Amino acid sequence: SDVQWSRVDKTETTCGYCAVGCRFDVYTKDDDFLAVQPTEAENAPANDFSTCVKGKFGYEFVDDEARLEKPLVRISDERPLPAGQKESEEYPGFREVSWDEALDVVAEGFQDIRSETGPDALACFASSKGTNEEAYLVQKFARSVLGTKNIDNCARLCHSSTVAALQQTVGYGAMTNRINEDVAEADAYLITGSNTTESHPVLSTRIKQNLRDGAEAYVFDPRKVEIAEHATQYARTRPGYDVAWLNGLTRYIIEHDLHDRSFIEERTKNFEELREKVDPFTPEEVERLAGVPPEELETAARGIAEADKVVFGWAMGMTQHAHGTQNCLALANLALVTGNVGKQGAGLSPFRGQNNVQGGGGDMGTLPTSLPGYQDLTDPEVLDKFEDEWGVRPPDEEGLKVPETFEEAGKGNIEGMYVVGENPALSEPDIDHATESLEALDFLVVQDIFMTETAEFADVVLPAATFPEKDGTFTNTERRVQRVRKAMDAPGEARTDMDILCDLAGRFDHDWDYDSSSDVMDEITRLVPIYGGMQHERLDEKGGIQWPCWDDEHEGTDFLYEEEFNFDDGLARFVPADMGKPGELPDEEFPLTMTSGRVLYHWHTGTLTRRVEGLMHHVGESFVELNPTTAETLGVSDGEYVRVTSKRGDIVVKAEVTDRVGEGVVFVPMHFAAGAVNKLTQEHFDPQSGIPEYKVASVRVDALGTD
Ligand code: SF4
Repeated sequence: SDVQWSRVDKTETTCGYCAVGCRFDVYTKDDDFLAVQPTEAENAPANDFSTCVKGKFGYEFVDDEARLEKPLVRISDERPLPAGQKESEEYPGFREVSWDEALDVVAEGFQDIRSETGPDALACFASSKGTNEEAYLVQKFARSVLGTKNIDNCARLCHSSTVAALQQTVGYGAMTNRINEDVAEADAYLITGSNTTESHPVLSTRIKQNLRDGAEAYVFDPRKVEIAEHATQYARTRPGYDVAWLNGLTRYIIEHDLHDRSFIEERTKNFEELREKVDPFTPEEVERLAGVPPEELETAARGIAEADKVVFGWAMGMTQHAHGTQNCLALANLALVTGNVGKQGAGLSPFRGQNNVQGGGGDMGTLPTSLPGYQDLTDPEVLDKFEDEWGVRPPDEEGLKVPETFEEAGKGNIEGMYVVGENPALSEPDIDHATESLEALDFLVVQDIFMTETAEFADVVLPAATFPEKDGTFTNTERRVQRVRKAMDAPGEARTDMDILCDLAGRFDHDWDYDSSSDVMDEITRLVPIYGGMQHERLDEKGGIQWPCWDDEHEGTDFLYEEEFNFDDGLARFVPADMGKPGELPDEEFPLTMTSGRVLYHWHTGTLTRRVEGLMHHVGESFVELNPTTAETLGVSDGEYVRVTSKRGDIVVKAEVTDRVGEGVVFVPMHFAAGAVNKLTQEHFDPQSGIPEYKVASVRVDALGTD
């Protein structure tokens, strides 16, 4: 009420939390973040006028007193405290320095490693939270300035197995359809491994509205997530055995002649291989392996096969497994067998996590396996094109994936790391092992908005800007590139990733002469065919464009594969999925299976949301869900503290007794540093994508008898 509204500014931008890509107006006064309000519905294609609790109220972190405001350099034998300077009171062990000094230290640190050991002793992690333009510059910095092939990002840990599977089956590693015109218009859904209500709230509202209007939904999940309450049928699955029930559905559909013969004949290949591979997955075998009763398998198979338009929605419950790519292949096969790709109201919908994981975590080439736009980094013509634009030829070999980078850092083969907006000290599996790797580094630079658990290990910490403080674009889960606009200045001396990277590149004699993020996007449009028409002026005018958008005449592509799939012959491929077992099975010492996931009020490692009082009020600490029968067997009561132990470590958290989880299965959320679930998770990785198996770990729960 004491706000002078005449001095309040309104800026239309895109949400910085999840990949639904809600658009809204941010209200600021000077550099205070005041509120978020719905924008005009026609400017908000993914959300109309809706936002969720995080998108609307989760912004105390922007003005939080703990925002990093000055660069910091660790005091060490190598970099002792200069005479007359003092240690930071706020960050003991560090001293505050000027940007010039900080960037000189960074440049010298990386140059020393490069000249003594070579560029591949360096690794960079980009962020899926920053803009496309910033992510593009991080990979350009890695490849053209440092000359390293080791560039990756946190998408490795969430949907890399989806990307690997969809590239093999349909061509692009992305959601094939739109939120409003397709997902919200389906006749039926198969939803699996997605806690849609809590992870993608606005998108789940669309689905629930459609279910109220008569659509059907079949939810398969080890945990009875909220969306299952609205489903036609919920089937509880055994964690880690998803290929069994997915292949079982496909087998049932083929055996009962419910498959789409003309679609299979005209638009796909390798059907016979698929038929053979799924043959052993009889209903009885599916029940034995995955715990799904034959009648539930039959109901879902018939419902999916008989509906005209089916959307297959999934998230990390499918992807984060040692055989995550096989899970996603099995899903894609099922969608193709039923002819549900390439038409309105149907499709493959991996619900992406971070606000810009599709763009910054994939399209922009922050990947060790491909250049921006998923272009082949061994193709001489592609390399020529980048060399012409950059003046430097990018490395033509695949680099290390995130887990491999940590492994090699532990062995001393990666000596320097540049972490931009990531928090691997909490997000890696088996974090005690991951932090040993961070400690083993000779030189670690962390660029972030807070002193994160990872920054505590850094030699140099660079204060960065967050989304209302910068300009550029995000790409949402439906491939829609949308504008992000600056509403306020970053606090203190914090700078945007783009500013920092340009300054840093200059210290290596690379003249990055960009006046604005629009200039960076222009460069992207010249190099990345699927972004060919994504100039900022066009995005401003159209309010967002879905890729592929080939040039400045092209309107973008609303849903993919209407005419042909993204292969030379235009045909989709059935790639039969192999059944794999979890990397760890329960035994006498660790008899329970733990799975992990999200809650509505928090975000990833909680760096942002744990600072928002209103959100902490709802869920203020970590917990473990136990089924009533499991709890009774263990003598655990609701609300008491218990110790959860795996082979890697243990945590103490509150018990929540609930039948959301089945007997023998427990669930721990991923958002807390105290009671961090990744103290328990295991380091088994999917061989194709490198994604860790966060969703299955064997644990023991011991009652502590304290409330
Ligand atoms: Fe932001 Fe996602 Fe919530 Fe929309 S649903 S407001 S994009 S967090």
